[in-house]
Amino acid sequence: ASFEQLGLHDNILKGVMAMNFRKPSKVQEKTLPLLLMDPPHNLIGQSQSGTGKTAAFVLNILHRIDLSTEQMQKTPQALVLAPSRELARQIVGVVKVMGTYMPGLITEAAVPQDAAARGRKIEASVVVGTPGTVMDMIRKRSMDVRALKVLVLDEADNMLDQQGLGDQCIRVKAMLPKNIQIVLFSATFPDNVVKYAQNFAPGANQMTL
Ligand code: AMP
Repeated sequence: ASFEQLGLHDNILKGVMAMNFRKPSKVQEKTLPLLLMDPPHNLIGQSQSGTGKTAAFVLNILHRIDLSTEQMQKTPQALVLAPSRELARQIVGVVKVMGTYMPGLITEAAVPQDAAARGRKIEASVVVGTPGTVMDMIRKRSMDVRALKVLVLDEADNMLDQQGLGDQCIRVKAMLPKNIQIVLFSATFPDNVVKYAQNFAPGANQMTL
């Protein structure tokens, strides 16, 4: 299988080439056809880091956002929750490289200590943050969630290992529009993570890789 066959827009394919990816990794080959389906479906995916899951969920986000007006470019349409600020910043980096050829793409990290976290309103179509900061920003109306259509929870198992983060993700989700696409990745699936994931992403296709 090739990236071309997945139905991604040309400007996204150029971004894939900018990353020097020749063909989809196993995770991408399995998850992208499901992620990109219309109407959107929820997905629970198992994958270790190093397997290419970041590109899988980033490609789905880039495929789904609408950058046709300046207003839309500044309005959050996809939100990724990550368990640490380092991971959030790495994901922002991947969005930027893969989105190199998407005019008007704006990506912002919502992590403790960044400017955005100090009260400025987020003006980006893709937001990647840690759960506590994102929750605060939504509550303070620094982040408009009304146009969100995709929510990604990365490293769910890691999230649940850290006091309070799993609950914060649930609180964030409760403030978002209903019927958005929910994508959850985790490296491991002990019982507590399975239970959490099925509650977080109801009706999801579950992919074990
Ligand atoms: P991740 O699992 O998201 O942490 O990604 C692991 C690494 O694999 C990153 O350095 C990516 O740049 C790389 N990678 C992801 N997808 C592909 C692909 N299709 N071809 C080659 N390298 C890839």
